[in-house]
Amino acid sequence: MCYYIWFLKDLCTFMLLAKVIILIMRNIIENIGNYTNFWECDFTGNIIEGDILRNPRRTASSCVTDSCKWPKVNGVVKVPYVFENGYKNVQKNLIKNYLSIFKDQTCVEFVPRTDETDYIAFTNQMGCASYVGRQGGKQVVFLKHENNGVTCVDSYVVQHEALHVIGFLHEQNRIDRDDHVTIHWDNIQSELQPNFKIYSSVNLGIPYDYNSILHYSRTTFSENGQPTITANDDYDRVLGGSVLSADDIRRVKALYECCKCWRDKYYLTCDNTCNVKICRYILNS
Ligand SMILES: [Zn+2]
Repeated sequence: MCYYIWFLKDLCTFMLLAKVIILIMRNIIENIGNYTNFWECDFTGNIIEGDILRNPRRTASSCVTDSCKWPKVNGVVKVPYVFENGYKNVQKNLIKNYLSIFKDQTCVEFVPRTDETDYIAFTNQMGCASYVGRQGGKQVVFLKHENNGVTCVDSYVVQHEALHVIGFLHEQNRIDRDDHVTIHWDNIQSELQPNFKIYSSVNLGIPYDYNSILHYSRTTFSENGQPTITANDDYDRVLGGSVLSADDIRRVKALYECCKCWRDKYYLTCDNTCNVKICRYILNS
């Protein structure tokens, strides 16, 4: 009888353990499933979308591959940077300050370069432009600072270009954009119409975001002052944000799996608020 009871106790323990293992495995599988949604990085043209540079070495690769993303080590994605071409300290400090929001709210950090092979070089020329995703080696991010009142050293521009660096195209180029906006081709400067094409993309589970800092405004590249792009649900809706939207933050977290951290060969899911600092605490504990 005693043997029988102990047998039941062991069986119960075994079943409880099995249930925990199943729950953990299911969580991992679900998260891997979420991982399959990405922007793709295939694009053509030397400068597209007004401020995106083309890497001639890249053909049809995708951010699904690690080659387009910046590496993640111990739960933190570091994007090394240097400054080139005569920025003053005041401009360097502004750029650093504008980039700090990524460290504060995601697992992506822009850090001064030490000896990393792949890094970005903020360059004080050629207007405002960036490649999309990691290119390999040194890649320029043009942030021209001028004294006549027009500058790319501005929070909107810096954070917009930073999202390109991280791996994102403009919001209105995503594959499902026609469900949400209408392009008014006749109002667009003819030579700039290619900027409004649709790119193959999957969207990280993020809804179409009219407020994205990566979304064009209603009159971007207009030749006659009339709208070039309008929302389908509200013709007068303001398009494009001047600050990172909540979904801009969410898409960075989704692409780089900021809500997961790695310890002892097992992914640990953070709390419901996706607090990356908890990940770091776990990693440091
Ligand atoms: Zn852009």
